[in-house]
Amino acid sequence: MMKPSYVRVIIDRAIHRELDYLVPETLSERISVGSRVRVPFRDKSALATVVATLAQSEAEGIRPIEAVVGDTPVLSEELLELGNWMSTYYCCPIETVMRSLLPQVIRRAEIGWKKQLFVQPARKIDNEEIEQLRRRAPRQAELLEAISRLDAPISAAQLLRKMSLDNQTLRALVKRGFAELREQAVVRDPHGDEQFIATSNLELNEEQVLGLKRITEALDSPGSARPILLHGVTGSGKTEIYLQAIPATLARGRSAIVLVPEISLTPQTVERFKGRFAEAQDAVAVLHSHLSEGERHDEWHKIHSGRARIVIGARSAVFAPLKNLGLIIVDEEHETTYKQEEAPRYHARDVAVVRAKIEKCVAVLGSATPSLESYYNATIGKYRLATLTQRVDDRQMPLMRIVDLRQERRKERAIAILSEKLRGAIADRLEKREQTILFLNRRGFSTSLLCSNCGEARNCPNCSVALTFHRHVARLSCHLCGHTAAVPKKCPACGKDALIYAGFGTEKVESTVAHIFPNATVRRMDADSMTRKQAYRDTLLNFRAGKIDILVGTQMIAKGLHFPNVTLVGIINADLALHLPDFRAGERTFQLLTQVAGRAGRGETPGEVFVQTYTPFSPSIQFARHHDFPGYFQQELEFRERCDFPPFKHAILITVRSAHEARAKFSAETLARRLREALGPEFILGDAAPAPLEKLQGQFRFHILMRGAAIVRLSRLVRETLDKLPFPEDVAVVVDVDPYQLL
Ligand code: ADP
Ligand code: ZN
Repeated sequence: MMKPSYVRVIIDRAIHRELDYLVPETLSERISVGSRVRVPFRDKSALATVVATLAQSEAEGIRPIEAVVGDTPVLSEELLELGNWMSTYYCCPIETVMRSLLPQVIRRAEIGWKKQLFVQPARKIDNEEIEQLRRRAPRQAELLEAISRLDAPISAAQLLRKMSLDNQTLRALVKRGFAELREQAVVRDPHGDEQFIATSNLELNEEQVLGLKRITEALDSPGSARPILLHGVTGSGKTEIYLQAIPATLARGRSAIVLVPEISLTPQTVERFKGRFAEAQDAVAVLHSHLSEGERHDEWHKIHSGRARIVIGARSAVFAPLKNLGLIIVDEEHETTYKQEEAPRYHARDVAVVRAKIEKCVAVLGSATPSLESYYNATIGKYRLATLTQRVDDRQMPLMRIVDLRQERRKERAIAILSEKLRGAIADRLEKREQTILFLNRRGFSTSLLCSNCGEARNCPNCSVALTFHRHVARLSCHLCGHTAAVPKKCPACGKDALIYAGFGTEKVESTVAHIFPNATVRRMDADSMTRKQAYRDTLLNFRAGKIDILVGTQMIAKGLHFPNVTLVGIINADLALHLPDFRAGERTFQLLTQVAGRAGRGETPGEVFVQTYTPFSPSIQFARHHDFPGYFQQELEFRERCDFPPFKHAILITVRSAHEARAKFSAETLARRLREALGPEFILGDAAPAPLEKLQGQFRFHILMRGAAIVRLSRLVRETLDKLPFPEDVAVVVDVDPYQLL
């Protein structure tokens, strides 16, 4: 076969096109599709990825490649194909997609393996020699004795530390020709210092057997299997199915990815997977955003080299460079953390389904509250549905009680944080020494500081939202941009001493609960109280050990956690999500209530859930109360169809923003006009309008919302229109395909 003489590359910078380079004879052996290379670009050099090898090139003034970066190609042809799909679908330059496909530490290839000095005997050493040495240098002899007994080389630093000896002693032995040092790569294992207790497969119940069978059937028909939607109520044993589907995949010579939302990538989840595959702990690689660059490098290479064949990770793990991929599991597939909110704005569940198609492998999407899109796909036969209707061991679904806050308000006048009924239920749990979780989707103490004289609220100077008061730091802060301010004594607008705190967040719930139940141990878990890496873990461990009676928190505690002794869950305000200007508001509320409720009664005692709300008869609340997913699905689907929303139509949201309001507005209106000319009548196009969140981080924002069934065509038309339109430098345009953030 003739060696390629040219390659086509994508340069890491945004230039929106591919370039050809000549491959020098000396490098030709080491370059193929997926290789990283250094190339001359303008008057500098740049890093690039090879996307094709060519026998000829039409390009003029072709220059040679400077160097190969790294030992082997980093991207498979399948992953490149996936990248191209993402670029087209998400209306996003391929260079930007590359940033997600390859972690920075791999793209730059600046960090390598961590090297350590290992020590071993230089030759066979007899006792005579050790004794002789002991007379002159007792410490050296002591060390030599230890070294002569080694079965295998050992880290020099580790040995010296263990024996409380210094480097000099070791150097002396090396000099005398007794010991030798050698550099070896060591793996930075993010979970290296943890012990995982081996677990074995549980005997599956009937529904689980069927679910697993769907997956193994699919594994046995590579290339023709549809994605599987595993709809199982909370605690129905979905994870156990995953744990058994993975060995079935490995047994067929293939590898597996398990995606979990970042938020549930808790020690508990990692433990379950590492524990089940404890015999080959190396076989499980973990990828998430809390890894150090060194750890990420090592985990990535462990996967790329084939040493790890199981990957568990958050969103970006969908790009894990496994060979012979057989199975991709997306747990909690409805979670919005799968959507990346910066370019490329991809949804990891959708990318997983496409990757599965490209790699001819099986995609399994699991959830207790599937997204409307996925469940719809199952009802029209695009996905196969597997259902788990029962909790394991026939445990009861929790009893949901709705507390009408309008009535409570009449009774107590002030806004009740804890209704009488919820208060009574907590007291009852404290008495029985059972645990309670209280949930509120809002951080801070008071959500605004108002003047009762002039009505002015303290707003963020950069964003169009009120500042939240945080009592533990005694400051006001903006939850969108992080701006903080001191608490004024008097109203800065009218000068009157009439400031009042309004609205409440988790911090106030915590202090109210602690006040009402002075003998209970109350802890709070939210982004404010969990700033230390260890805090999250400690709180969970203490809660599990029963050292905390009442846990107050935000969505951090809503998902995936399993605490047998929790028999009561209180949802302080179920209406928060319902009133957002977002067509998914109802869906989110239903999911949230169902998921939070799933935290109750996972042990022997059945659970109870109190839902406090001002809108007790809204459908999301009523269907959640009766654990009626199909009922909720049906009514929500009708609403979506009536309003031309997903899953019936795809949406693209364009945000035009600038520090200059007039320029943002003008650019948005011009763009909307051009789009109106470009898009055919099959697409629905809204006017350019101020975004619900008009100002964010000092930028004025305008939205254009488009909808249509033919999303790839729509995406292309948008790209073409944007390419033809020059925008002023200080105006930014963001295209979001299948958006989840409509603010
Ligand atoms: P889900 O992922 O659906 O929330 P899990 O897989 O976490 O459910 O299962 C809930 C609990 O039930 C776990 O403690 C799990 O070990 C246990 N479990 C799951 N399947 C079985 C089974 N077949 N027999 C006994 N216990 C099981
Ligand atoms: Zn702000």
